[in-house]
Amino acid sequence: MARPEDMWQCQTVNCGYIYNPDKGDRKGKIPKGVKFEDLPDDWRCPICGGTKKCFRPLAGPGSTKADCELPVETDSAKLTAGAETAKLERKETNPMKKYVCDVCGYVYDPAVGDPDNDVAPGTAWEDVPADWTCPVCGADKDSFSPEE
Ligand SMILES: [Zn+2]
Ligand SMILES: [Zn+2]
Repeated sequence: MARPEDMWQCQTVNCGYIYNPDKGDRKGKIPKGVKFEDLPDDWRCPICGGTKKCFRPLAGPGSTKADCELPVETDSAKLTAGAETAKLERKETNPMKKYVCDVCGYVYDPAVGDPDNDVAPGTAWEDVPADWTCPVCGADKDSFSPEE
C-alpha cells in the first residue's frame, strides 16, 4: 500500500483527483509503481489537465499550489473553437449570395455590385440601399429572391 505521503491530490477547484502510485495513471500511460516525484514534468492531471504543480501530497511536508497551471487549450475548447470557425465561415459566404430579380431575371452579384448605380463591387445584398432598384426593369429590392 502507498503511504499517504506518496498519494498526491490535485488542488484544482472541482477536481480532487488523487494520484496513487500503486495504480499509476492508465490514461497518461503511467505504469503501476511510479512515484509522483518520478512522473514526467509534462504529465497532466487526467481529470482537469492541471500540471504536477497543482498537486499536493495527502500527508507530509506538502508544497503549496502557487504555480498551478491549467492547460490553455482543452479538447472541449478546441471543439468550441472549431464550431466558431465554422460559424464564421458560414457568415462569410452568405453575404456573397446572389439575388435574382423576380420580374426580369437580372442577377445581383455582390462580387460585382452595381457600379452604375453607386453600389460598389463587394457590397452584400443586405448592404445595398433600400431604395436601390433593378437596373434593368426598375423593380425594388422586395422583388428579388436569393439565388438557389
Ligand atoms: Zn485535477
Ligand atoms: Zn428586374
